[in-house]
Amino acid sequence: MHTFCDIPEEQLRRERQKAREMRRSQWWRNRIATGLCHYCGGRFSPDQLTLDHIVPLVRGGRSSRGNCVPACKECNTRKRDLLPTEWQEYLDTLARS
Ligand SMILES: [Zn+2]
Repeated sequence: MHTFCDIPEEQLRRERQKAREMRRSQWWRNRIATGLCHYCGGRFSPDQLTLDHIVPLVRGGRSSRGNCVPACKECNTRKRDLLPTEWQEYLDTLARS
């Protein structure tokens, strides 16, 4: 596990709570209704898409509309497991294919 820099626990709690509220919002339902994964561009049914923070909360990202995107489970899992540089390489591979 990486050690993350100084994001106060209280901020993380607040942003996670906001993310939960976003998942219930009409805005989010409209986003996943398109069925598109933000990263790989694949088509999925709405229940297969998860809410992903482009900049993870533990790295200081916020639960804002600009930072929350639909991601398929595969992209979400990879993003969680890869280092930021490795994730960028994965995105570059997708862009080339
Ligand atoms: Zn995907």
